[in-house]
Amino acid sequence: MQRETILVIGANGQIGTALLPQLQAQFGINQVIAADLRKPSSETGIFEILDATKPEALTDIVRRYRVTQIYHLAAILSAKGESDPLWAWNLNMQTVLNVLEISRLHNIRKLFIPSSIAAFGEHAPKYETPQTAILDPATVYGISKVAAENWSLYYHKRYGLDVRSLRYPGVISHQSMPGGGTTDYAVAIFHEAVQGNSFDCFLAEDTRLPMIYMDDALRATMELMNAPESQISVRTSYNLAGMSFTPAELTESIQTHFPDFVTHYKPDFRQAIAESWPKTIDDSVARQDWGWKAAFDLSRMTHEMITNLTAVYQ
Ligand code: NAD
Repeated sequence: MQRETILVIGANGQIGTALLPQLQAQFGINQVIAADLRKPSSETGIFEILDATKPEALTDIVRRYRVTQIYHLAAILSAKGESDPLWAWNLNMQTVLNVLEISRLHNIRKLFIPSSIAAFGEHAPKYETPQTAILDPATVYGISKVAAENWSLYYHKRYGLDVRSLRYPGVISHQSMPGGGTTDYAVAIFHEAVQGNSFDCFLAEDTRLPMIYMDDALRATMELMNAPESQISVRTSYNLAGMSFTPAELTESIQTHFPDFVTHYKPDFRQAIAESWPKTIDDSVARQDWGWKAAFDLSRMTHEMITNLTAVYQ
């Protein structure tokens, strides 16, 4: 079997921080190159500073390490992107196009470029949103994700690039803080709860959104990337579901551990973004193609988050 060398771009982020150890375990610590704009506070393994908007810098790393697979995680997320739409568009698109083009030129064997539930907008069905629902996103982030999905399909069809993707729901994790998305409240709430504080929620109490626990998100990523090419029928991006809940339901779930925990609701500009997104996702195509099945529901995720974060704050 050919030895793989994996480049993770945007490795210091919420998903990269948790994905790196899994890739290091599968491929070997010296076969995984983490890259980001700045050095992380603690490093395990190989790290390179990289601005992925610069094609020469990306090419240099791909050549130097003879990279065979790329996980492109760098992006400006939904809420942060709205503060400066053209900056978010330029960064998201430039990095995706650089990664696609450099992958083609340097015979990258497999490429992962995640999408998001933010690719859906006003006219997609809100419940059990199907794989092929219309994509009319309300945010610049969503527009960049739809464009990236279509460019990925184009590179697959035109150049045979093995590019794979998941439309992640809001990812909930204890390893690091999220990077400016509309589902960030579902992580921040646990940090307040385990410290004995109340929580100010930027979404209304009945705002249902699709979410996924990090362990499930990582397993989905690894299962998708390890699946034989013959099992991959979707080259835009696969719908992926974990669980769906409202802030009120999450608060109730936390109250089973901390009965005095209170959430105050102070919706801001992120409420409109959340309302443009699906409430539940139909991921039957991922189930059929490569056997996806989520393992974490709301109560299991709540238990895991509280156990892990209690250990951090002790
Ligand atoms: P994040 O914001 O936590 O991390 C992104 C990382 O990219 C940061 O460490 C940042 O420094 C880095 N970065 C930014 N610009 C860069 C550049 N020019 N060059 C190199 N690195 C750069 O994001 P995340 O939550 O880890 O998300 C990873 C991917 O998953 C993104 O494509 C995101 O859109 C997607 N996604 C995430 C979620 C979620 O809930 N976390 C949900 C849906 C989709």
